[in-house]
Amino acid sequence: MELSFHGAAREVTGSCFLLRTLDSNKKEHQFLIDCGMFQGEHLCGGKNFEPFGFDAKQVEAVFVTHPHADHTGRLPKLFKAGFHGPIYMTHPCIGLSKLVLEDAHHIMKEEAEKCGSSILYEMEDLLNAFDSVKGVNYHEQLDIAPGISIMFHEAGHVLGSAFISVEAEGKRVVFSGDIGNDDVPILPDTEAISHADVVICESTYGHRVHEPVSERESKLKAAIEQTLKDRSVLLIPAFSIERTQELLYALNQILEHDLVTNCPIFLDSPMAIRATQLYRDFKEYLEFDESILKESDRDFFSFKNLRETLTVEESKKINDTPAPKVIVAGSGMMSGGRIMHHLIRYLSDQKTTLLIIGFQAKGTIGRKIYEGAKRVIIFGEEVRVNARTIAIGAFSAHGDMNKLTRWLNPEDGKIPKKVFLVHGDLEAKEVFATHLRHELKTEVVIPEFQEKYEI
Ligand SMILES: [Zn+2]
Repeated sequence: MELSFHGAAREVTGSCFLLRTLDSNKKEHQFLIDCGMFQGEHLCGGKNFEPFGFDAKQVEAVFVTHPHADHTGRLPKLFKAGFHGPIYMTHPCIGLSKLVLEDAHHIMKEEAEKCGSSILYEMEDLLNAFDSVKGVNYHEQLDIAPGISIMFHEAGHVLGSAFISVEAEGKRVVFSGDIGNDDVPILPDTEAISHADVVICESTYGHRVHEPVSERESKLKAAIEQTLKDRSVLLIPAFSIERTQELLYALNQILEHDLVTNCPIFLDSPMAIRATQLYRDFKEYLEFDESILKESDRDFFSFKNLRETLTVEESKKINDTPAPKVIVAGSGMMSGGRIMHHLIRYLSDQKTTLLIIGFQAKGTIGRKIYEGAKRVIIFGEEVRVNARTIAIGAFSAHGDMNKLTRWLNPEDGKIPKKVFLVHGDLEAKEVFATHLRHELKTEVVIPEFQEKYEI
């Protein structure tokens, strides 16, 4: 069988892997695992607009690991290029992916108008793509051809996320998708890999070890206490899927058990509000702490202090609410969205706390503030950064070096014969590759973009 890498090769984003394999009648089949967008690129041109390095018409099916745009963002483009097969993903992943792609379309449309260029896909392409989506359950065996079967397994990264195993030509190949952090309070643990011959493994934090998850609640609680004491504003830029729901869950726990306060908490992101509703709708896919499991009909993402501001009018009214108040708004990297208006208003106040709970990519305002910038430019306006900035690393949605190594070294002792590292900066991959060669004594490859391997 032949494996080729059409994204996330020497970078984090753009996951898209093509597998060509023979069935038991020696007939060839081609399918894709993920078809993601390159992020951090100009949306008016660049790699997302280049033709695929394969013939989309020959691809029979796509298997999607999870909803993030860097795993789903080029699906509508695939239809434009002539693909007409089914797209498989878990049931919760369907609604979340649609939210993600509609949001990406909205942003791209604005960008395309600004630079007068064409758009990667139209709403019609997106709807066409979703007409072909088929929901699958974890552990449901998909026999796609004689002797070729596919299965989705819990990845513990976001609601409905999966790693995918492929059995073909007598081999078992596993695509990690994104592997979640340990002990995430609302998700099931990542399932163990079993007897994989080849693993295509993400390596976002393959070079790092995260702080313990227990740190998140104590730091969050301290930030709220300080905000109450100062009668000030706590700003939390948040990613709509997973991080927001983990944050709401943690806030709920803190307010329930440790802090009695009427301080309002605004969830000021339409996408996060909609994603949170999907988390409620698919509650059976989540896993809460054992101590509260009995309260099965409780909504852990709602509490009396929480105010969801869906419309622009509701959002504007946040300004009229006197401090202390907590504002959770997107985007997570402060590269757009409603958080920008709150930054303009509150960042120059030294009593404000800005709480960073996610990865900040190079070039974003979030990264500049995180690295200590004293002034930033927002919508052409210079804003002084006098606010106190705190970061909580334990909210990471990705497993670190220890977690990934343990996942690749299952208890049955069957270490994969070959590991391809994808979805990571080159530096992270090189550190992780050296570590894995030493720890697992297995072959580790860092593939190039569009490179083909016989496996
Ligand atoms: Zn992801």
